[in-house]
Amino acid sequence: MGENQPIFVIQKHDARTLHYDFRLEVDGVLKSWAVPKGPSTDPRTRRLAVAVEDHPLDYADFEGRIPNGEYGAGAVLVWDRGTYRNLRAEDDEPVSMAEALRDGRVAVWLEGEKLRGGYALIRTGKGDDNRWLLIKMKDEEADARRNPVSTQPESVLTGRTLEEIAGQ
Ligand code: MN
Repeated sequence: MGENQPIFVIQKHDARTLHYDFRLEVDGVLKSWAVPKGPSTDPRTRRLAVAVEDHPLDYADFEGRIPNGEYGAGAVLVWDRGTYRNLRAEDDEPVSMAEALRDGRVAVWLEGEKLRGGYALIRTGKGDDNRWLLIKMKDEEADARRNPVSTQPESVLTGRTLEEIAGQ
C-alpha cells in the first residue's frame, strides 16, 4: 500500500433500508454513494448507486450503532476498505477525481480486502437526479462466480456481523 494513496471504504448500513455506503477519499472528504444491493464482482452487473452527502475522512473507521432518532439510525459495519488509484489520471489525457466527479465518469482501481480491480461509477441521472451506476470493469480481478456481499458479510475491522453490532 502506497503511503500517499487515497482511501476507499464500504460501510454496510442497516438504516431504514439495508445498503452499502461506497466512499472515496477526494480532496480531504469522503465522496459517498448509497448502493442498495452492494458492489458486484461481475462486469455484467450494474448496481444502482445514489450519490449522498460527503462524509468527513475520519468517518471511514466508524463501526457501531447510530442511535435511534439520529440521521441514519441503525448498525454500521466496515465491510471493506483499502486504497484506490484514479484510473482516469492514467489515461492519455489525465483527469482529476474532482473533474471525473463533475463529468459523472469515475474509474478507480480498488485495493481492498474483499474487492480489487477496476470499478466505474457512471452518472445516469440529469440535473438534481443523483443516480449513478457502479460497475465492475473487465480486468483480471473480475469474477462472475464470486458474490462477496453474500459470502463475506463480516466486518474487515472486527469480524463481526451486522446483527452482532446491532445487538452489542
Ligand atoms: Mn448509509
